[in-house]
Amino acid sequence: MATINANYDNLAPSYLFSEIGKRTKAFCSANPKAKVIKLGIGDTTQPLPPFIVDAMVDAAKRLGTIEGYKAFGHYGDEQGMTNLRNAIAAKYSERGVQIDASEVLVSDGAKSDLGNIQSIFGEDNNVAIQDPVYPAYLDVTAINGRSGELDKASGKYKRVFYMKCVPENNFSPEVPKSKADLIYLCSPNNPTGAVMNKSQLEKFVEHAQSTKSVIIFDAAYSAFITDKNLPRSIYEINGAKKCAIEVQSFSKSAGFTGLRLGWTVVPKDLECENAVPGRLNQLWNRRQTTFFNGASNIAQMAGLAALTPEGQAQCQQIVDYYQTNCQIIKKGLERTGLRTFGGENAPYIWARTPNNMSSWDFFDKLLNEANVVGTPGSGFGPSGEGFFRLSGFGFKEDTEEAVDRIKTRLHI
Ligand code: PLP
Repeated sequence: MATINANYDNLAPSYLFSEIGKRTKAFCSANPKAKVIKLGIGDTTQPLPPFIVDAMVDAAKRLGTIEGYKAFGHYGDEQGMTNLRNAIAAKYSERGVQIDASEVLVSDGAKSDLGNIQSIFGEDNNVAIQDPVYPAYLDVTAINGRSGELDKASGKYKRVFYMKCVPENNFSPEVPKSKADLIYLCSPNNPTGAVMNKSQLEKFVEHAQSTKSVIIFDAAYSAFITDKNLPRSIYEINGAKKCAIEVQSFSKSAGFTGLRLGWTVVPKDLECENAVPGRLNQLWNRRQTTFFNGASNIAQMAGLAALTPEGQAQCQQIVDYYQTNCQIIKKGLERTGLRTFGGENAPYIWARTPNNMSSWDFFDKLLNEANVVGTPGSGFGPSGEGFFRLSGFGFKEDTEEAVDRIKTRLHI
């Protein structure tokens, strides 16, 4: 007799993006002449850089030849192409971090790895997450049966440790005070745009080492860090290889949101309560070789191109483009009197709603008065209530127009 995984029944309804869509659609039907601008998206809009496109065209043509097909056309190593793993490891060495290519496992993007990584840890392990944060960590925790029951009144799971990120702590989490075996950290953070500095990360590394917990560090937005003193990788912190896994993505740094490519570093030094160094790396290898047949060969060739100096220079132009949008939004909002955070080393601007409005009331106000769509902060966790996320991933002209409307039409 088959039964469902009852943990799915324990999931909080994920209604953020469907509700945004519903409200936007209703507004557009009632106001067919209004030109609505979406500044809420976390998806990229700029096309792939030409150097990467050329590499993919070339790879596709080679796949139509016997030699090319033999070289990389069929099943490859589940862990990723050796030259790509080497190139990723070399990228870390630019920041003074020594990672061996065997510690890097290529994937089809960060989201899958951020969830799948839980499978190498004990079923009774519990989880700490930032609040607010990218919602995927919480949902996989619930699906994997590690969350405990959902308390409907507070909207919180009973076994999850929520690390509050609020203006009072500069949106930087404090180390968990009670048991947390797996600690998700997202820096630069989605949605707050906050980046953890060295000393803040050092506290987590010390804590993880002393409690034998493991940090799962999501660095998907590291390409947006402009401040040279801010760490782009957890491994810039001494001791992190013993207690941290890093998950990375080509989505936001190179525009691969649709192409799909990422990687995870599980260091050989990593240990936990019942795992000697090397064991967790082995388990992740085992998990990936069992459940995953490797990222698409074309995507991997594109990733290789993205990591060359020419690829990096072209990707940087796109990152700069989004960062300019962030500056436009941030300055514009501040001129209207709204208090903003983030947006400097991250592609998101996190704004306090005016007059203590709820996130959803402000969503409606912005849509009705300025015809601009953003993302209500409460969708990222209870501490996101009273905040709002705008994104730099739009087109520059749309961003300018949206900000202009906010300045001239929004009544605060
Ligand atoms: N991590 C964070 C914090 C994100 O915001 C996102 C996507 O928006 C992802 C990971 C997903 O990355 P990928 O496209 O590589 O799956």
